[in-house]
Amino acid sequence: MRERALNVRHYGDLTSSEVTEAVAGATLVWPIGGLEQHGPHLPLSVDLDIPQALAAEIAAATDGLLLPALPISARSLPQSGGGLHFPGTVYLRGTSMIHTVTDCLTALARLRPGRLIVVNGHFENEALLFEAIDGCRPSATFPDTEILAFSWWSLVRDGWVAEHLPAFPGWHAEHAGVTETALMMYLRPEVVRPERPGHDTPPRAGVYVHPLDVKRMSNAGVLSSTAGASAELGEQLFWHVVDGACDMVRSGYGVRRD
Ligand SMILES: [Zn+2]
Repeated sequence: MRERALNVRHYGDLTSSEVTEAVAGATLVWPIGGLEQHGPHLPLSVDLDIPQALAAEIAAATDGLLLPALPISARSLPQSGGGLHFPGTVYLRGTSMIHTVTDCLTALARLRPGRLIVVNGHFENEALLFEAIDGCRPSATFPDTEILAFSWWSLVRDGWVAEHLPAFPGWHAEHAGVTETALMMYLRPEVVRPERPGHDTPPRAGVYVHPLDVKRMSNAGVLSSTAGASAELGEQLFWHVVDGACDMVRSGYGVRRD
């Protein structure tokens, strides 16, 4: 079993008089989370817990500083998160999400980090997050900063999916399904409930439907199968993503490796 990092340096632990020197030229790692229903077996914090744990490892491996996570995400949509048909989801509308991320980035840019790694854990955040970063005009706002922003599932190689997820429904439908369940069983088993609801008819990617048959689209907020979820699978997947992120940092970003 691989040991989790205990020696993570936290941005929030710095003082104002220390932060300018500590961040200039350094790596900052920022988890972007969410507070969204994840079926009857997983807590509302899944989309926060997973990127937070990944970001801590990435920060430790890159000698970076870990920023506090953004705990609220973009709106949950029916075909990728169950939507607002289930209680507990707290969200920002898209424009608020873009403004929130833009304001945080603008403040961080003044510290001139050498690298900013943004780790997203909520499906609907991705396009808004990328728009906020791009909208900052990085060449002007972050002239000396390399920025790597990704959703954690984007670093899962096709070969890993083929080997471990034979009934893979697409990442949009991996909501409260086997991968999130497995990761939570590894990271926070104490908050994973014993039931394992499955769903045989996951929604299609990129299709919005109204009126919606909620029972057909999901099973109690679960969009796909949880079969095969285990702490062992979660551990494998967790380190697969951590290693993929560290590879990307070391060997050049955006280069696809299946
Ligand atoms: Zn999720």
